[in-house]
Amino acid sequence: MPAPFVNWSGTVTSRPSAWARPRTEGEVAALVREVRGRGGRLKVCGARHSWSSIAAGDDLQVELGGLAEVIEIDRRAMRVRAGAGCPLHVLLDALAAEGLAMPVIGSVAEQTLAGLTATATHGSSLRVGNISSLVEGMRMVSGAGELVELGADDPRLEGARVHLGALGVLTEVTLRLREAFRLEERRFVLPFDEAAARIRELGEAHAFAKLWWLPHTESALVFTYDETDAPGERDARAWAVDAWINRNLFPALLRLGKAFPSLIPRTNRSVAKLHFRPSIRRGRSDHMLQLVMPPPHRETEIAVDLADTEALLRGTREVAHRDGARVDFVVELRFVKGDGGWMSPAYGRDSCQLVIGGAYSPDIDRVFDGFRRLGQGLGARPHWGKELALTPAEVDALYPRAGEFRALARALDPDGVLRNPFLDAILGPSPG
Ligand SMILES: Cc1cc2nc3c(=O)[nH]c(=O)nc-3n(C[C@H](O)[C@H](O)[C@H](O)COP(=O)(O)OP(=O)(O)OC[C@H]3O[C@@H](n4cnc5c(N)ncnc54)[C@H](O)[C@@H]3O)c2cc1C
Repeated sequence: MPAPFVNWSGTVTSRPSAWARPRTEGEVAALVREVRGRGGRLKVCGARHSWSSIAAGDDLQVELGGLAEVIEIDRRAMRVRAGAGCPLHVLLDALAAEGLAMPVIGSVAEQTLAGLTATATHGSSLRVGNISSLVEGMRMVSGAGELVELGADDPRLEGARVHLGALGVLTEVTLRLREAFRLEERRFVLPFDEAAARIRELGEAHAFAKLWWLPHTESALVFTYDETDAPGERDARAWAVDAWINRNLFPALLRLGKAFPSLIPRTNRSVAKLHFRPSIRRGRSDHMLQLVMPPPHRETEIAVDLADTEALLRGTREVAHRDGARVDFVVELRFVKGDGGWMSPAYGRDSCQLVIGGAYSPDIDRVFDGFRRLGQGLGARPHWGKELALTPAEVDALYPRAGEFRALARALDPDGVLRNPFLDAILGPSPG
């Protein structure tokens, strides 16, 4: 019996008919043609970090561990070409060794380049867009089994930069870079109401800025980041302590809340008291922006127009506290510069993206439901890599260029070889 597909959080599983691990582009092409020939489907997974079922296959499941190298760093053009299965942390270290950096990253660096771009993974900046917006080229084996190269001038690139795994099996990704830079991180605590009123202005004033709020508490932790030449580097011991806390102490507190949900509000208040403290750190940009891996949990996330930042945060507090709900995980608010990616949640508008999560909260389904309805009222676009439910009609209403994306997917994958139940649900029935 083939191993099941299981995502990082353990919340999505599927039963592929088999697994394949092609090591070269030629092997990928042969595999796609074979699956197409027998009328089957295949789904590539990256690091399986998505909370949505976007990477879960129902026929052949493919891993691309063999196409995971940094291929060429072009300092003159300020771009890097790497295998689609390359984990972000491998790329970041290779760039740092050359005095270069990614202009923006998210909170962790385990994901693959193909996976990050499929879902528009983002950090928190109104000066740089999500990681998909940095794509300057792609190479893929289309669903028809043909090699397709999209360069920076190819009009299809805007459609493919947030590819949802629906266009082809990516084999290479080319990304825009910048000179290495150092950041100063400042953390400070604000009363919730003041934080809600000021966070947009802070997002606009700093290179990077974000906010954490623990439900059932009255304060928020604000992070701002600005470039600096001042010395300093991430403290390896503090990082190890944080990693230990996230592996041991935090899961123990979450389990306590699982056994006694009525303790969740009190536990959150204790965590906020201990953890939400002012501090200043400096170091390599990616070291400042990354966090230690959190314990497994569930997440959903939506993107709204920047103008609705305060309404989204205040609405989220209302949803998290409604009818005595208990929520045991941090709410995170971030910013993303608008871009032109057809399926990007930040398409055409500077955005505020907000995550709400839960580990064992008994009320989390109802809270996620309330959050979804809050988002609907604000014209929110869900993050493709987080828990979501969207019909094709809703996708069309939210994404003005969804029709063009569907047409591109049909042209590159005429038989729906790259479809899975997730893509069928959001794009409509498979063409195959
Ligand atoms: C701890 C944690 C922290 C996170 N932090 C952030 C964050 O800060 N910001 C944010 O926006 N998101 C964040 N995420 C979400 C995560 O970045 C996305 O879900 C991302 O897509 C995961 O990448 P992956 O390599 O795991 O891809 P997977 O989840 O395995 O796959 C995602 C999609 O990519 C497709 N795919 C993978 N490889 C290929 C290929 N070679 N060709 C074609 N399609 C392919 C899959 O089919 C699927 O459609 C986080 C997730 C976790 C678990």
